[in-house]
Amino acid sequence: MPVTQKRPKHVPERTCIVCRQKRPKWELVRIVRTPQGALEIDNRGKKAGRGAYLCRTQDCFESGLKRKRLEYALKVEIGPEQRAGLLEYSKRFLTVGNGGEHRAELHVKGACE
Ligand SMILES: [Zn+2]
Repeated sequence: MPVTQKRPKHVPERTCIVCRQKRPKWELVRIVRTPQGALEIDNRGKKAGRGAYLCRTQDCFESGLKRKRLEYALKVEIGPEQRAGLLEYSKRFLTVGNGGEHRAELHVKGACE
């Protein structure tokens, strides 16, 4: 008797540059350094440039900025304006800590479809 098995879909995983947790790609935010040297949030994961992944939490965003992880990962200096812009983004769209992951996931799915 052949057993029909649902094969699990391949989930691309990325590692958060701050907490080093592996998560499915869409649970992370990709920050891209564009060829022009600007930093952009890449919600679709398709922008050209050097990218780094962060959890969708304010915690990882803020420590990434404070501890220069992001600068190190992207090999770029982050000026005060860009830093403020990224923090602004995290306050608006990201959850504090890990309590609101479900909401974050919905947000990401909405952005991708
Ligand atoms: Zn993280």
